[in-house]
Amino acid sequence: MAPSNTPATPAARPRKARGEGQWALGHREPLNPNERLKKDDNPLNVRARIENIYAQGGFASIDPADLRGRFRWWGLYTQRKAGIDGGRTAVLAPEELEDEYFMLRVRIDGGALDLAQLRTIGQISTEFARDSADITDRQNIQLHWVRIEDVPEIWRRLEAVGLQTTEACGDCPRVVLGSPVAGISVDEVIDATPAIDEIIERYIGDPQYSNLPRKFKTQISWLADGPYQANDVSFVGVEHPDHGPGFDLWVGGGLSTNPRLAERLGVWVPLAEVPDVWAGVVGVFRDYGYRRLRNRARLKFLIADWGVEKFREVLEKEYLGRALLDGPAPELPEKPIDHIGVHRQRDGKNYVGAAPVVGRVSGTQLSRLADVAQRHGSDRVRLTAYQKLLVLDIADDRVEPLIADLRGIGLEARPSAWRRGTMACTGIEYCKLAIVETKARGGELVARLEERLRDFDADISVHLNGCPNACARTQVADIGLKGQLVLNSHGEQVEGFQIHLGGALGMAKGETAGFGRKLRGLKATAEELPEYVERIARNYLDGRSEGE
Ligand code: SF4
Repeated sequence: MAPSNTPATPAARPRKARGEGQWALGHREPLNPNERLKKDDNPLNVRARIENIYAQGGFASIDPADLRGRFRWWGLYTQRKAGIDGGRTAVLAPEELEDEYFMLRVRIDGGALDLAQLRTIGQISTEFARDSADITDRQNIQLHWVRIEDVPEIWRRLEAVGLQTTEACGDCPRVVLGSPVAGISVDEVIDATPAIDEIIERYIGDPQYSNLPRKFKTQISWLADGPYQANDVSFVGVEHPDHGPGFDLWVGGGLSTNPRLAERLGVWVPLAEVPDVWAGVVGVFRDYGYRRLRNRARLKFLIADWGVEKFREVLEKEYLGRALLDGPAPELPEKPIDHIGVHRQRDGKNYVGAAPVVGRVSGTQLSRLADVAQRHGSDRVRLTAYQKLLVLDIADDRVEPLIADLRGIGLEARPSAWRRGTMACTGIEYCKLAIVETKARGGELVARLEERLRDFDADISVHLNGCPNACARTQVADIGLKGQLVLNSHGEQVEGFQIHLGGALGMAKGETAGFGRKLRGLKATAEELPEYVERIARNYLDGRSEGE
């Protein structure tokens, strides 16, 4: 019985903690529909149903829980029905928004493709995906207009050349980013590719690691030439004064809503131990990650609550069974490294980085790229986390002919600052979450700025996003554009963007990376956008100091 001086009001009763649905604390009952569908049947199992039932029965035969849930574990999302404007995104039911066609994401770990793989993707695109293909800012290639009937044959062809769509989407370890110049860079001390390969071999498709609270993004590279501070986990190369070259471990980055930059754990991990430590980090996330609310289910929320010291302690004691070595901070680049242009490899050959426009290519273009690369003596290409691509192993006397041939197929190795620095997410053309169009608008923006500011000579990044989810990293661009509906001068709701200015990733050691400032009043309609960006660029040119 309560003591008599305790007020018997509900406010005074001790509140029972609701919990965050963390498995390690005993919360195994699903707390939301996403958790339910994962518990009811491991999403990896849906492959058999696609091959044996849905591919024969067609779209109408697909169980909704598979269609809108488990399919993602095999890289499949339904795409947005054409003609639905962004104002209806939030009000329509999923079945009203979706088309009977799929986006299929091909995971390309480390961004590395040989020509057989490139040709296979190109052929699949022309045969089964209406010639669509986008290079994403996570080194994947996305195809659109895919029919469920064709998916088994697409998998057969991809897997015959060593590619897969396993866990390309879903609450699982997505594609592992690597350096596009791994193994060839003059600046690299250790090639991280063996660690990436081992992780793919050991853990991708393993049911033990396929039910995470939400998506899990990884980067493993000696060079910090990807968005290492925007991932759930990153391993970045560093020299230890006593132990030599190894990797510095970062955790808890993620953009989207509630953006957060990854933080260093302060440990040094040798190459051979990277896969085990990676699996330990995933294990902590799987078991302690929040599963009650989808919008709190990324690792960054756990890190925000725990701090990196507690995370390191749990990782060491409960998952690795040993202490990790303390390690120094790596040297970080002052600005993003996109590898565009001609660069010397460590073997004396060259690699050439080229830009499509906002990552949009086509199957035909990819097949032609394979022909061009082969003609000039290369057997491999790489994709970057900036929606660009590299052709490797080019002899000195083949560089200029290659650049001319790339230009002939719409890939520019000497792009304008605008083409080089502009990225766009999928946007309203295919994405069911989108509010605004991005790809075509990004292309128009580049064309207009090339015309009006042809000689703009500074590095600039412009990232267009179709909604607040920030797939194209809104917050870390010089000019980050977040799609939303805005009012035009007549008071009508139209497509537009909120503008973030001055974001950065990868600042020099000692400085702090940061997010662009989101100024409440800083918005532009889509129509005004080119003029708006031009004005920002001209102001910058007028105001910059000598040598800036
Ligand atoms: Fe879709 Fe939004 Fe991501 Fe763009 S940012 S791809 S619109 S979810």
